[in-house]
Amino acid sequence: MKSTFKILFVSSEIAPLAKTGGLADVSGALPKALKTLGHDIRLVMPEYGSIDKDLYGDHIETNFQNIKIKIGTEFKNANIGSTFLRNPEVKTYLIGNDHYYNRQELYRNPETNEDWSDNAERFIFFNKAILEMIRALDWRPDIIHINDWQVSLIPLFLKLHHRNDPFYEGIRTMLTIHNIAYQGLFPKHVLKLMNIDDALFYSGSSIEYWGKVNFLKIGILHSDIITTVSKTYAKEIQQNEDVGFGLQGVLQSRSEDIYGIVNGIDYSIWNPKIDSFIPSNYDATDLSGKSVSKKELTLRNGLKYEPEIPVIGIISRLTDQKGFDLIEEIFDDLMKMNLQFVLLGTGDKKYHDIFESYQKKYPDKTGINLLFDNQLAHLIEAGSDIFLMPSKFEPCGLNQIYSLKYGTIPIVRSVGGLKDTIINFEGKRENGTGFIFKKYSGKELLKTINKAVEVFKDKPVWNKIIQNAMAKEFSWDVSAKHYEKLYRKLLK
Ligand code: ADP
Repeated sequence: MKSTFKILFVSSEIAPLAKTGGLADVSGALPKALKTLGHDIRLVMPEYGSIDKDLYGDHIETNFQNIKIKIGTEFKNANIGSTFLRNPEVKTYLIGNDHYYNRQELYRNPETNEDWSDNAERFIFFNKAILEMIRALDWRPDIIHINDWQVSLIPLFLKLHHRNDPFYEGIRTMLTIHNIAYQGLFPKHVLKLMNIDDALFYSGSSIEYWGKVNFLKIGILHSDIITTVSKTYAKEIQQNEDVGFGLQGVLQSRSEDIYGIVNGIDYSIWNPKIDSFIPSNYDATDLSGKSVSKKELTLRNGLKYEPEIPVIGIISRLTDQKGFDLIEEIFDDLMKMNLQFVLLGTGDKKYHDIFESYQKKYPDKTGINLLFDNQLAHLIEAGSDIFLMPSKFEPCGLNQIYSLKYGTIPIVRSVGGLKDTIINFEGKRENGTGFIFKKYSGKELLKTINKAVEVFKDKPVWNKIIQNAMAKEFSWDVSAKHYEKLYRKLLK
């Protein structure tokens, strides 16, 4: 059997080209680790208008123009360009169609704050165009590795639309679920755009979900293998209805084929020793650069720099998933404590309003940044003492793992990937890397923050936790080998 494979890694966002969350970080890093292992891995994503052309435009080469993609009764044009991710170089194809992708944001209309009304069509086009692209390139992957609902139709299209074509024969598919809360749920009429016969849509069929079309369900039932981004989350999505979002039963029917592989971290980007976004680099042997970062972070947020007062940082999408209702519940009590609070995030309007009101109410203790700012994200990781992530559910979570590397001690809830990546500090235990609470309640959260703030005062103990945290490695090398093992299994 072959020891290296041809893999097409398919994602709707890839850092640094386009990013709204952790999916982009994973899509920008895992393929590089797999390339290092010797595989011929290539990436593909839509050519969004938001891609920074100053950074990448010069490098985009045009491969094909005007490939015809059948959407319902019409044909739409796909242009195929390509560029590279760097270190090591990974070929990255970009599928262009100005009407679908030349928009300010990836999934949402910023003017209405609602999803683009034609998201089903935009991603049906992407799924179909990918399969036409590989034929145009005459490059037949052994495996198509798909990620999340946006590309979950590929296994179905392979089976229904390319069944009799020898070029596609034997291509295997792997689906990685990064967040099952997002499923791509659309009305039945999108079947026409998919060119799928109505006869396949009946109660209990793989295409039907409570009278609608559910892209992720299709991916789960038609992929050869399914992975998700931590072991605990792999169990929770099958067993816990609050986490499975209605797909528990569907997942249980595939339980033999579901695996949990924790995400790694790209330490060429998230590492205080070499991070170019922070004012002074540091590592575990000398933390003075962390104090410089704390000073810059507090001053930039209009706060007084006080080395003895802990700064609690948050970088997050502002959604219910991330536990903001708990933070709202305890915020006034939190502000009675001797600490400073810095937030970076965008998301639901209700949370924008709430945090704007906190900024007004507590100007001397809070720095509220309601925007997407990668540089500030790095500064918060470096300049905070504590990182807060009290999620309701969390597939893997990346920021708590970045925090470990930056010696910024996470407070997390015992759920999903948070549970798998943080070790609770229990006073006696020598190996604690953070503070964990179980029950989803404001009272528990407040108690845990209180405990962390108390321990922060005890410098030798706090330093020990920092050393434990910074010594942790969540390198992609290890996780990439787990994926490699599954690819091998698929091709047996
Ligand atoms: P999720 O994918 O659920 O949003 P993760 O913790 O897995 O959460 O990953 C979030 C990623 O997005 C991290 O790299 C984080 O730094 C980044 N991020 C989230 N919000 C912002 C923001 N407002 N500005 C800059 N980066 C952000």
